[in-house]
Amino acid sequence: MKMFQSHMIVLVAGLFALQMAVVCAVLRRSPGMEPSGLTAWALGDLMAASAAAMPALAEFAGYWLAADAVDMALFSGISLMAAGTRHFAGKPGHASTLLVVNLVLGAAIAGGTWWPHAGWLEALRPWMPAALGFGQVLLLLDLVRSVVPVLAQKRGTGRFAALSLVLIAAGCAGLNAWNLAGSVVQPGVPGPLAQDGSLVVLNVFAMVGLSVSFALMTHDRLRRMLERKASHDDLTGLLARGAFWQQLEAAIGQADRQGKPLTVAFIDLDHFKAINDVYGHLAGDSVLRHCAGLLRKTAGSQDIIGRLGGEEFALVMPGTTLERGRATSLRLSTAVRNTPCPSEPDAIAYTVSIGMAQREPSETVENLMRRADQALYDAKQAGRNCVSLHRVGMPWHGASAGEPTHWRQRATS
Ligand code: GH3
Ligand code: MG
Ligand code: MG
Repeated sequence: MKMFQSHMIVLVAGLFALQMAVVCAVLRRSPGMEPSGLTAWALGDLMAASAAAMPALAEFAGYWLAADAVDMALFSGISLMAAGTRHFAGKPGHASTLLVVNLVLGAAIAGGTWWPHAGWLEALRPWMPAALGFGQVLLLLDLVRSVVPVLAQKRGTGRFAALSLVLIAAGCAGLNAWNLAGSVVQPGVPGPLAQDGSLVVLNVFAMVGLSVSFALMTHDRLRRMLERKASHDDLTGLLARGAFWQQLEAAIGQADRQGKPLTVAFIDLDHFKAINDVYGHLAGDSVLRHCAGLLRKTAGSQDIIGRLGGEEFALVMPGTTLERGRATSLRLSTAVRNTPCPSEPDAIAYTVSIGMAQREPSETVENLMRRADQALYDAKQAGRNCVSLHRVGMPWHGASAGEPTHWRQRATS
């Protein structure tokens, strides 16, 4: 009766493992999740489920499997999980070694099932549980090692999931090591946890727990990836319009609270349509990426950079006055002019026009952006390839007959 009950518990654990295999397989189908190791984890869960089914099968359908087959299934399941986790952490490797080890052990177990009295197999048999147990401990520790660096990077759900994975793997490795120590003392006699089958229950449940943690980690990565995709421009990797606007409003709120200045710059590529027409759209895309790269290099670490659309970028410089911001804009303008975009057969030379404005106390975001846009329009009117500033009190475009030239500055190389 006791054996039957323990088989029921193992079977329940196996059903959970089966469910986790389905969860991992479904998560794997989400876009962008292919290279995350989920396939290996789904297969690992299937191995755990088959390990759980084996004792019951042996009980009801006669003993047709070698005694070590359960340990072998658990070993290969944990091998798959360790390989999948390495993949997730971006450090694959050893997967082919693990495959070879599993195939050799699997062959030895198949040999033991079909030729139970082969001499060399009989000599190996007493050491098999210890060898598999030792391998399992190493694999669990490898799993911990793969996840610990991820732990340092993550925040929130991802960090919690990584922590639980590390704790389960370390705890499971500890119990397996304790059992292993028992079986090494007396070769051929199962370790203290293996005698009543509780080691299998423990290992299968641990694998289910590890899978839940891993699924949460991958889900967290997926969520972050989607959030980034939604807030960043695909082509340049800069903030997209909506996210840029949000960050601008937050920066303005902070500038108000701290009583600090804030300056914005609108950057527009000159005659970009002609670049597309002459070199083609793909080359035009390269120019946009190139310009975004120069913008990133020129901007300060606190600055906010966005692509507002087409060939228009914006730079927000918190804590920066118009004068200091102008120096940054001139550096950008010079860098763009002196660094043509690499292309075949010839590099593509291009320039930018920049319009700037510093926020006035309690000025709305819309008004500030309108003034920067006005300055950009003036830079275009002045012949492009230059930086224009808009100061409060200056005439709006069209309101004044005279062109205010004294605040417009052409960058020099
Ligand atoms: P100006 O100096 O007055 O700014 O002239 P311009 O040609 O740069 O400006 P215009 O607004 O006439 O043309 C912008 C062009 O940018 C038109 C559009 O085809 C192109 N464009 C917009 N988005 C993209 C993009 O993502 N990739 C490429 N290659 N071209 C784009
Ligand atoms: Mg343009
Ligand atoms: Mg434009």
